[in-house]
Amino acid sequence: MSNPRRHLLELAPLDATELLHLLDLAESFQDISQRRIKKVPALRGMTVVLLFLEASTRTRTSFELAAKRLSADTLSITGGTSSVVKGETLLDTARNLEAMSPDIIVLRHRHSGSPHLLSRHIDASIVNAGDGGHEHPTQGLLDALTIRQHKRRIEGLKVAIIGDIAHSRVARSNIVCLNRLGAEVVVCGPPTMLPPDIESLGCRATSDRADAVQDADVVMMLRIQKERMTEELFPTDREYAMRFGLDRAALRMAKPDALVMHPGPINRGVEISPEVADGPQSIILDQVANGIAVRMAVLFHCAGGGAQA
Ligand code: ASP
Repeated sequence: MSNPRRHLLELAPLDATELLHLLDLAESFQDISQRRIKKVPALRGMTVVLLFLEASTRTRTSFELAAKRLSADTLSITGGTSSVVKGETLLDTARNLEAMSPDIIVLRHRHSGSPHLLSRHIDASIVNAGDGGHEHPTQGLLDALTIRQHKRRIEGLKVAIIGDIAHSRVARSNIVCLNRLGAEVVVCGPPTMLPPDIESLGCRATSDRADAVQDADVVMMLRIQKERMTEELFPTDREYAMRFGLDRAALRMAKPDALVMHPGPINRGVEISPEVADGPQSIILDQVANGIAVRMAVLFHCAGGGAQA
């Protein structure tokens, strides 16, 4: 019997050992990006399809670079250029792609659960690059890797995640991953942006920014996802910035060596002030750099490489 396909659909089912395996694998790929020849033959002869049916900058480009650095052939299909705009369903698009024998399909889609749907019908490994407001597993992994590299540990750290928790797939993947690796996770946002069941993922929820930021080791800011809102959830950007944004004064409540993170894209002056986003505690660009190593690890793993996570 052939081996079952390996997918990465979400972080929720992974235990600490499996998460650490992927982080260690990512770390082992990191030096490739520092070499003059940034390529290894690990996925030579394999085809990776990047099916991005929702806007993306960092995730799509870093998946593409990751695949290329592993020597895979890549095919990039984005929302505006695919037949989805002509009314083709996701499953029809994917079945047509399957006829071209891809080994891995990396999918970003606005509907939660779409990668799971593909994994049930398509004979390729499916990697979730963000499904609606559900999960963004590679972002969760790259954030954990970035924290671990700066703090040398994750266990015992207080991590505050602040912003539009309700619509954030980044928040969900981070809560499950960091909680499983032993961090204390506090999520914070206006009551209209805190889903009632969020604490069941393994975090504490508050609408008091000071409570969240006080003595935090890491402050992770999130963008307000206006594109996912069906109604206004807060009065004005200015009021939001005053109560939930991160400026120098708010950051002073955290530990003096607290790290500032943001998955991007940033709305400067709304959830984070420019001085903080570009300040000495910001590791936002390290997150971007680590995205490549994490995505190399995930593609390698899904292609069957390394030990079973
Ligand atoms: N880039 C992240 C995502 O795709 C965060 C954001 O869009 O605000 O979920």
